[in-house]
Amino acid sequence: MPDSAPSNFLQDLVAEDVRTKKFGDAIIQTRFPPEPNGYLHIGHAKAICIDFGLADKFGGKTNLRFDDTNPSKEEQEYVDAIQNDVRWLGFEWDRLCYASDYFPQLYDWALQLITAGKAYVDDLSADEIRQHRGTLTEPGQDSPYRTRTIEENLDLFARMKQGEFPDGSRVLRAKIDMASPNLNMRDPVMYRILHATHHRTGDEWCIYPMYDYAHGQSDSIERVTHSICTLEFTDHQPLYRWYIEQLDIFPSQQIEFDRLNITYNQMSKRKLLQLVQEKLVAGWDDPRMPTLSGIRRRGFTPEAIRVFVAAAGVSRTNGSVDIEMLEHFQRDDLNRRARRAMVVLHPLKLVIDNYPSSQEEFVEVANNPEDPAAGTRQVPFSREIYIEQDDFREIPPPKYYRLSPGKEVRLRNAYFITAHEVVKDAAGTIVEVHCTYDPASRGGNSPDGRKVKSTMHWVSAAHAISAEIRLYDKLFTKADPNDVEEGQSFLDYLNPSSLEILSGAKLEPSLATANPGDRFQFERVGYFCLDPDSTAEKLVFNRTLPLKDSWAKIEKKAGG
Ligand code: ATP
Ligand code: MG
Repeated sequence: MPDSAPSNFLQDLVAEDVRTKKFGDAIIQTRFPPEPNGYLHIGHAKAICIDFGLADKFGGKTNLRFDDTNPSKEEQEYVDAIQNDVRWLGFEWDRLCYASDYFPQLYDWALQLITAGKAYVDDLSADEIRQHRGTLTEPGQDSPYRTRTIEENLDLFARMKQGEFPDGSRVLRAKIDMASPNLNMRDPVMYRILHATHHRTGDEWCIYPMYDYAHGQSDSIERVTHSICTLEFTDHQPLYRWYIEQLDIFPSQQIEFDRLNITYNQMSKRKLLQLVQEKLVAGWDDPRMPTLSGIRRRGFTPEAIRVFVAAAGVSRTNGSVDIEMLEHFQRDDLNRRARRAMVVLHPLKLVIDNYPSSQEEFVEVANNPEDPAAGTRQVPFSREIYIEQDDFREIPPPKYYRLSPGKEVRLRNAYFITAHEVVKDAAGTIVEVHCTYDPASRGGNSPDGRKVKSTMHWVSAAHAISAEIRLYDKLFTKADPNDVEEGQSFLDYLNPSSLEILSGAKLEPSLATANPGDRFQFERVGYFCLDPDSTAEKLVFNRTLPLKDSWAKIEKKAGG
């Protein structure tokens, strides 16, 4: 986390534990525990920054642990992508762990709980267990199998493991309290039967531990001091502690913080998976997705994400952050670092009648005015150039200062030009503008001190290269796409114009040598990034963000 990150309740809590030596001489140990059932998204980035940031602040360590207890949803593809994304964000874990590595230990501990009379095999179906569970106002009912003898439980559990019984026929439950006001404590399921091939343990197991039983014990095995998770686990904390106390193992401590939600985005892995499976997006790394692979491909930087996450802060109540805030930090970062280039998205040809047709020249342009160390480059100029269609009006509306007949403007880093006449096609569309230039204004200033009100970007027609430009916009039309009317789903709020593809753009030739992932500011247009779909024959640029910063405006309005 950046040094400027304000202190927060998590830091205060850990600091206090360090002061009181709550964990003796143990180092501060955290973990980031993704389930490999999807790609990481920007919400996970917050958890990662917190887990790694806290350990780092207190000289501790962080494990990356895959919470791989549900083979029906988990895959190696996700395991690989998650590691890649954590590293991309800028973090390196201490140990790489898998909950599945602890299956033998978890099984032994289950036997220990059975032997202590603290767990039993239940033959009720999932539905019956739900019916017996009671409600917030009514206590649950004991299962008729709750009083099985220890011997019978040990025998049945061993046979569950050996594969004697079909899926769903039996479970192992903790014997706690069917009348507990906390529903999680009403004899929670510890193990279920699932004849499924696990991406790491293969067919070795056909019983799998439930999240609540696996998670805390995995923390304890790794000697995690602070097991930081999101608020939905608050009601699970008594159960987390119960298992650790019954087994008398390392007392890892669970602490909850608020989930990151961002307007116009979807942070549910299940729903993101649905978008991918139904091909509503091009994949997990579609640049419109809030996944780390998606926003990376879109051109977002790990630096900006870390600053954003720190600025969004942590608290104990869930809320939602404006997407404009993320965009603001991203623009800020790219403005400082992205190389500039001139690109015309919607070209209009401009012919400079008094510029010799046999001539070409190179003008020197700063690669990044914010960063002199980025140097300069030579950009070719010639008689025919492209400008944006929007930068010319035959009949200018009031306050339109760009090019129109009789008006003089500056071509950035090049010359003053004055438009004279237009050429139209049969349909009346302007296809060419003719102008003259002032050779004395080379570099963009007139020796006689003449002022112009507008500076425009341009690309020399003879030297221009082409590319496909993908303009991305919000994936959803609603700030909270999960807030839907009855009978609707978040899919009803997909933005039909979240992707616009331009094929006619004209780019300055220096962009021909860009590499996938390279980020640019196309002057006066926005931030762009070369997409990995690019080939030598066809470049593809993704728009990361347009230049306009609506967040700065919102802040200003709010008097910030
Ligand atoms: P699910 O459990 O539904 O698959 P999940 O988003 O909780 O989804 P995990 O892989 O369990 O996915 O998450 C790993 C860690 O990231 C957990 O500690 C979780 O609390 C944290 N996390 C997940 N989503 C967010 C979010 N939006 N903001 C902050 N932390 C999050
Ligand atoms: Mg989870």
